[in-house]
Amino acid sequence: MSKVLECLQKQVNGILESPTGTGKTLCLLCATLAWREHLKDAISAKKISQQLNGAELFPDQPLSSWGNVATNGDVPAYYTDIPKIIYASRTHSQLTQVINELKSTVYREQLCIHPEVKKQESNYLQIHLCRMKVATRSCYFYNNVEEKSTEKDLLSSILDIEDLVRNGNKHRVCPYYLSRNLKQQADIIFMPYNYLLDPKSRRAHNLDLRGTVVILDEAHNVERLCEELASFDLTPYDLASAIDAVNVVLEKQAKEVQQSEINSEFSADYDRTGLNMTLEDIAKIKRILLELEDAIEAVELPPSGNGVTKDGGYIFDLFAKAQITFQTQNSLLEALEQILQYLAGCPGIFTNTAGLHKFADIIQ
Ligand code: SF4
Repeated sequence: MSKVLECLQKQVNGILESPTGTGKTLCLLCATLAWREHLKDAISAKKISQQLNGAELFPDQPLSSWGNVATNGDVPAYYTDIPKIIYASRTHSQLTQVINELKSTVYREQLCIHPEVKKQESNYLQIHLCRMKVATRSCYFYNNVEEKSTEKDLLSSILDIEDLVRNGNKHRVCPYYLSRNLKQQADIIFMPYNYLLDPKSRRAHNLDLRGTVVILDEAHNVERLCEELASFDLTPYDLASAIDAVNVVLEKQAKEVQQSEINSEFSADYDRTGLNMTLEDIAKIKRILLELEDAIEAVELPPSGNGVTKDGGYIFDLFAKAQITFQTQNSLLEALEQILQYLAGCPGIFTNTAGLHKFADIIQ
């Protein structure tokens, strides 16, 4: 505990090792929370003293007795706000595996209590529908969040996912957005590694690490996890399914164009619904996917069957062969997003968009 306190006081990173069963978790938590409490008091004392122009608030308890932070005139910006503590742990290895796959959507998926949104099969549709409801303020549970986020008993309780859902159902308030609000005021937040280490997930959960104290439990797993988060796999099946999905869009769009030409002979204001992309634009996406397929096919593999290992930068050369570069990525992503949305909204047809989703994620 004294080493933890030393790290916090000096604002340095520490690597602490201790055998299993020696109470690491408790030791880390108690030390950090106690330090935080002390800091909170010290900062309040300092603020009060500033308002009193240096006079002592409690003459029998001078400011210096509140610790260094209170008297140090040159308090670093880090100490003017009470730091939040983030405690990241791997917990169960199976859980990590699942969360890895579900990435940043798992939270909303588990927490949503809107009957219509909850029953959507794909995460993508669920998020899309939720966003639409939030934007139009048509989710009853979301509309209640603001009012409930200030309730005293919620603010002072320790809530896990099950508690949040139970609370949400009871008070008819969205647990996902409520937890996001409560997080702003929490002293300590527990989360699996991925939420912390994956930049996409950090952005999705609005997690700002500036001025926070981060504790990584079982930190020997962190390196491997960082490798996993920075990696992806793209199989021939993914690419083939992405190409199939684009083919569906091409066919549908070609039919629509034909239809609109016939209709426009009879009615000048025939309104074509759906995708706002020309046939050429869609064909371009298909060409990129085919070129990527060819570029991967052309990679020479040793006869031993062991595969090849290249420098990280190689992936950019490979993508460039399919015209995927830093210059084209934004327009490519926009086009993919449009196609995916279009397919998700097509009634009556089921297209497997997993490959296309994966491709878009990789480009991002
Ligand atoms: S706001 Fe909450 S309850 Fe409403 S749809 Fe989104 S996640 Fe579900």
